[in-house]
Amino acid sequence: MQTWTARNVVLGAGAMGAAAAYHLARRGEPLLLVDQFPLGHDRGSSHGAARITRHSYADPRYARLMPEAFRAWRTLEADAGENLYLRTGGVSFCPPELDYVARVEASLKAIDVPHRRMSGQELRKSWAWFGGPDETDVVFEPDAGMLSAARAVAVQISLAQSAGGASTQILENSPVQRIDLDGERPTLILENGRIVAERLIVAAGAWTARLLTNLGFPLRATRQQVLYFRPTDVLNGLPGRFPVFISKGAEVLDDFYGMASFQGQGVKVARHGGPDVDPDSVDQQVGDEYRATVRRFLKKYLPPLAEAPIDRTEICLYTVAPDEQFRVGPLPNRSDVIVASPCSGHGFKFSCLIGQVLADWATHGATDLAVDFWQL
Ligand SMILES: Cc1cc2nc3c(=O)[nH]c(=O)nc-3n(C[C@H](O)[C@H](O)[C@H](O)COP(=O)(O)OP(=O)(O)OC[C@H]3O[C@@H](n4cnc5c(N)ncnc54)[C@H](O)[C@@H]3O)c2cc1C
Repeated sequence: MQTWTARNVVLGAGAMGAAAAYHLARRGEPLLLVDQFPLGHDRGSSHGAARITRHSYADPRYARLMPEAFRAWRTLEADAGENLYLRTGGVSFCPPELDYVARVEASLKAIDVPHRRMSGQELRKSWAWFGGPDETDVVFEPDAGMLSAARAVAVQISLAQSAGGASTQILENSPVQRIDLDGERPTLILENGRIVAERLIVAAGAWTARLLTNLGFPLRATRQQVLYFRPTDVLNGLPGRFPVFISKGAEVLDDFYGMASFQGQGVKVARHGGPDVDPDSVDQQVGDEYRATVRRFLKKYLPPLAEAPIDRTEICLYTVAPDEQFRVGPLPNRSDVIVASPCSGHGFKFSCLIGQVLADWATHGATDLAVDFWQL
């Protein structure tokens, strides 16, 4: 039985774990990054070509953090020498009886981010993609856009390796069976050994609640189904001609989002939210009922896509915390164990900043960023 010891152990090499490893290595901190699957796998929450980024949040606390998140992405891009953010503009819209867009606009005003309030009619005039009633409430944010998802995760892991050299260790295909917190040091139990950490960052996504059973709040793993459409006019579906969009509906499971075709993948559209799932046995097929649900949405709000062929599908997992709030911070009474469960389907845009926060917690036991509301 082998025993590894490391000052910093990061459990999970998805968006959050990769960002934590990058920021720790950037500070000269030795680390061991462990994942149950090979790096870049597609079984969790961080695979796929792209994710939406935006300042457009109805919750002003998240909107206030977004300028810092954008800065963190720019730092990463500078370190990596490549672009990971693509500015496409973005629209958030809802029926007039909902106050979602009004709250988004209030948040954007409060952080002084350029935006324009529009009606459904103006939306249709601006982009022929969109349909929907004239009275639809819309806000346009020019700085919204797309982030390269799988690429950003890979870049941060390779930067952690180049910055850390031998002091950055990576253990792939190494499922952690249990986290032992009975002893002085947090210890990860593997099939063929154990990892003893001075500080442990748990960024295990949909598996977090299995590894930390007494978090004091529920975490649900849910199955997300994503469709990539091949529009008749392919060029029109490219970034620059197709803003990212967030559609807020009146009912639960009535929210949809989408983005332009990225790296030839097709126009991405999906419903926000889905059924609870066992993260170890996830059905990879997208059913007809779901396809029909998305086409009904498109028929109303993006008619040119409603009959378009579906080029490919993708399955992905959300880790949903109560009220879709993030949970990031040390375990109560264990400052050497830091939990990062910032998902609920909107964590990627914050991942680079969350990596910074996790490294702050690990190295200083505190962070200057206004993230108290994420604490456990
Ligand atoms: C379809 C979809 C669309 C999304 N769209 C957006 C968007 O537009 N904008 C946005 O900001 N966010 C979006 N998100 C959310 C965002 O992608 C996630 O918040 C983020 O990827 C979560 O990363 P993570 O590192 O927490 O999880 P993961 O990437 O799942 O990483 C967790 C890792 O832990 C490993 N692990 C778990 N258990 C163990 C164990 N026992 N032993 C070893 N390793 C283990 C897993 O193998 C995995 O690699 C979307 C998510 C989905 C699914």
